[in-house]
Amino acid sequence: MSDLKNYYKSLGISEKVFDYCDAAAKKLNERFLAIDEIIEYNQLKVISAMQKNKISDYHFNTGTGYGYNDDGRDALENVYADVFHTESALVRPHITCGTHALSLALAGNLRPGDELLAPAGKPYDTLEEVIGIRPSKGSLAEYGITYRQVELKPDGTFDYDKIRQAIHKNTKLAHIQRSKGYQTRPTFSVKQIGELIAFIKSINPDIICMVDNCYGEFVETIEPSDVGADLCVGSLIKNPGGGLAPIGGYIAGKKEYVENAAYRLTTPGLGKEVGASLGVNRSFFQGLFLAPQVVGGAVKGAIFAANIYENLGFKVVPDKDESRHDIIQAVVLNSPEGVINFCKGIQAAAPVDSHVVPEPWAMPGYDSDVIMAAGAFIQGSSIELSADAPIKPPYSVYFQGGLTWYHSKFGIMMSLQKLFEANLVDL
Ligand SMILES: *Cc1c(COP(=O)(O)O)cnc(C)c1O
Repeated sequence: MSDLKNYYKSLGISEKVFDYCDAAAKKLNERFLAIDEIIEYNQLKVISAMQKNKISDYHFNTGTGYGYNDDGRDALENVYADVFHTESALVRPHITCGTHALSLALAGNLRPGDELLAPAGKPYDTLEEVIGIRPSKGSLAEYGITYRQVELKPDGTFDYDKIRQAIHKNTKLAHIQRSKGYQTRPTFSVKQIGELIAFIKSINPDIICMVDNCYGEFVETIEPSDVGADLCVGSLIKNPGGGLAPIGGYIAGKKEYVENAAYRLTTPGLGKEVGASLGVNRSFFQGLFLAPQVVGGAVKGAIFAANIYENLGFKVVPDKDESRHDIIQAVVLNSPEGVINFCKGIQAAAPVDSHVVPEPWAMPGYDSDVIMAAGAFIQGSSIELSADAPIKPPYSVYFQGGLTWYHSKFGIMMSLQKLFEANLVDL
């Protein structure tokens, strides 16, 4: 028996599970080479942005108080702008999460009487209260900003006729979400997003096209800002933080629109000029530096999971051969026991909290019990290996992340081990 197999065995992976997974992984070598090329390209992109901005040790120092002359903060924002090929960027620990970043970009750029258009279906759940789709204190709706949504066609493509009809003189901003999030539609490729933006701009070039880029950064060699997006927005405890950023969000795009968001984050008049970085600069820089590699590892893990589970007869979204545009993998496990055991496996493979056992619970805001597995260095970080599932039909589990491919692989192997032990799969 090989050393590796023995080691896995000592960690609870049976010989059958090891052999099954090993054979599946070996078949992915060629596919993984293509991912390595994307990693390599994006690694160069990040290094060249850091070189161009002459990043030095003093940029890792911290600002305090107002944060005037916080050179590290300003240099980091210039690096982000260069990575995304935009005029400007706002990258701050004061942006508490992805929803906050999106909310700032929307509220900063919309005025009473303006209309927000979602040309590609419903945005992420947490934005419903930001927009006021579900009534909420402080929503855009309370400020007289209206909202219109165009559904995707049944085949998941853009409904260009309906989008044309939906655009009128007050349409100010189009909100396009790249990742499917927890919906069943496919994730859009950057190229598809570019086509949608070109269409919207052909009707009215002044409409601000904003992309919710969460989970998409560095999965491809281009970003939505390379294909016409005026704003790209995301969370630093997902892809671009590389697992090291302890908090934060970013908004990269046209100078005017980024500044408008900054006036919302701080205050009118102050904008980007204030906001001490409070010691996070080094982790933001270093996390961005590692992000291409980390994201590539997570994509490999997602593809590995799709291959393992599709070959066992489960429905997986995206399927095992599909091209990837975000790091999320859904696996339909058909039973509560399936998703619970899957999540137990992910938890058991974690570097942190592997000794705790996840249980379904009635989380506020959900209409069914939810189970979550995460053993992360940064609380709630979903670039780290994590899985979650609502306990309701069709019993899908959403799996993402892993700071390294080998951790992601171990997590999937452990999930399969738990399903195998519960007699839910035949190997
Ligand atoms: C995670 C996510 C968000 C919101 O981010 P939070 O950090 O959880 O607030 C928004 N949109 C998409 C597509 C996401 O995946």
